[in-house]
Amino acid sequence: MLLPNMKLKVPECEPHIALDHAQGELCFVSHAHSDHTSAVRSLKPLFATEETLHLANAKTAHPIPKNISLLGAGHMLGAAQLFARLDGQSLTYTGDFKLSPSLTCKGAQIKECDTLVMESTYGSPSMRFPSREEVLSHMEKWVNANSSKNAIIFGAYTMGKAQEIVKFLNDFCGITPIVSSRIDSICAKYEELGVRLLRVRSGTEESNEMAKSPFVAVMPSRSVNLQFGSSLSGALNMNVLTALASGWAHSFRLPVDRAFPLSDHADFSEMLQYIDSASPKKIVCALGRGEEMAMHLKKLGYNAIADSQIGERIAMQATLK
Ligand SMILES: [Zn+2]
Repeated sequence: MLLPNMKLKVPECEPHIALDHAQGELCFVSHAHSDHTSAVRSLKPLFATEETLHLANAKTAHPIPKNISLLGAGHMLGAAQLFARLDGQSLTYTGDFKLSPSLTCKGAQIKECDTLVMESTYGSPSMRFPSREEVLSHMEKWVNANSSKNAIIFGAYTMGKAQEIVKFLNDFCGITPIVSSRIDSICAKYEELGVRLLRVRSGTEESNEMAKSPFVAVMPSRSVNLQFGSSLSGALNMNVLTALASGWAHSFRLPVDRAFPLSDHADFSEMLQYIDSASPKKIVCALGRGEEMAMHLKKLGYNAIADSQIGERIAMQATLK
């Protein structure tokens, strides 16, 4: 995902604040996905939620500056939006966000603001997902219909989505899955933050025993495809079904037996809903399909621009004037 190189200038806070990148004296880290945590790796002074600091292995944190508050973003555990009051004006930077709640975090909070810098990953009218309840119901039916006779391997992003799939298997299907060691380590951190996740780490005696009969596993999405399923089927002498849970399942044919459009990002409808509730005077479309989203918003009568149209390393107070 392309990140904007935007900075925020807050009165009474001398350094400009880097939004999800490390090119600033002080950095805001919206959530723990690695494409947003360069400030942690660069050991820059930063602020984030307690959950994000824990999941991203941040050693130290800067106090949240005056005039700034963090709002839940609904994207994954700990994900936050930045809300700032500047010279009598207000600004929200959403970072990655989603309005509907997931099984491991609440949906995004919305506050009225003058300027909205909004994530636009799915900023296209063609990107409208079925409701999360509907997708989870399809997943439940599919798992229940197939788990007694097949090994099922779910592919998911190791942080955030994988933990939601484990929670789904626990709560909807009564299944304790085998998980990869990396996913297990992140599940352990989720548990330290209060989210219970029943799972068995792969490579243990217990997981080897489980794999002698049909089982369900959650693995990193990059390694799960039809070819992997076929090789595993030969090795286990058991039929193997592969599945992915991703918003991209809505628009692409993914190379697995079954793909579910379970997304951690707002779709086009949720983006419009957010704008309607936040009533911004100006919208900056960032993170993804910014140009396309800004074009559609302009057609709908909104004052919108893409972040690429306002130049790199801008001081965001300029957009408030
Ligand atoms: Zn993310």
